[in-house]
Amino acid sequence: MELFSLDGRVAVVTGGNGGIGLGIARGLAEAGADVAVWARNEAKSTDAVAELRGLGVRAEAIACDVSDEEAVADATAETVERLGRIDVAVLNAGVAGVGRLPEFPTEEWDRVLDINLRGAFFTLRSVSDQMIEQGEGGSIIVIGSTGGILGNSVSPHYSASKAAVMQMAKAFGIQLARHRIRVNSIAPGFVETEMTDAMRNPKFEQIMIGARTPMRRWGRADEFAGPAVFLASDASSFMTGATLVVDGGMLIS
Ligand code: NAP
Repeated sequence: MELFSLDGRVAVVTGGNGGIGLGIARGLAEAGADVAVWARNEAKSTDAVAELRGLGVRAEAIACDVSDEEAVADATAETVERLGRIDVAVLNAGVAGVGRLPEFPTEEWDRVLDINLRGAFFTLRSVSDQMIEQGEGGSIIVIGSTGGILGNSVSPHYSASKAAVMQMAKAFGIQLARHRIRVNSIAPGFVETEMTDAMRNPKFEQIMIGARTPMRRWGRADEFAGPAVFLASDASSFMTGATLVVDGGMLIS
């Protein structure tokens, strides 16, 4: 359907070499976008890009730690050099973490905030500068979490980072609207990826999946392709600052 087409557009997906990011990258490529995968593990990125090229689009692996401001600036320049422009950016790179008081280590707080929040800010600022220079608008999609909406006793820093990026999307959505750059968020519930490997145990599944998630199953990474293509494309042309909750109904239960 033409409304959802991303033909001729270039998308950046941070953390696009696995999990939800790769699910989204596949969807964007299937809708016609060329894709730049920004991530740290080069072997995983090479595999991801080979798969995306198999879908008939241009795809490039760009080594980047999003918590490194200079690396993000370099990755933006490299993306433009290799693919010509940036029209869509999915700020998906993220890490989980567990921390409890007393004696919550500062290093653990900073590790998660540096990647999830500072990394998302560096990426948003850099890609939006490029979009403004191009002068043709764009779409930025922030991957938040239901963990940034609900209370969470085991991962305060993760929850804080996710609440912050979803709020950041709203604030920059206002600032960037005059440049025709839209900024929206997706808040996933529990999704089967490497990040949640440690959670796949009977106790967690009984409580969080069986009792708390009305659809009574984990989400799959490929279930983020549709929401991301929607937000990336003209199908959502009058939307900015919105959060799409994709969680099997957890938030309403
Ligand atoms: P995942 O499978 O662990 O993937 C995380 C991705 O982020 C990897 O591609 C990783 O690649 C990349 N990454 C991590 N640190 C990075 C850094 N410093 N610079 C660049 N890339 C980095 O996890 P996932 O579940 O797909 O998570 C994707 C996003 O969804 C995250 O933001 C997460 O918080 C969010 N989320 C996940 C769930 C869930 O249930 N799975 C729920 C809510 C929200 P490299 O290691 O190669 O850098």
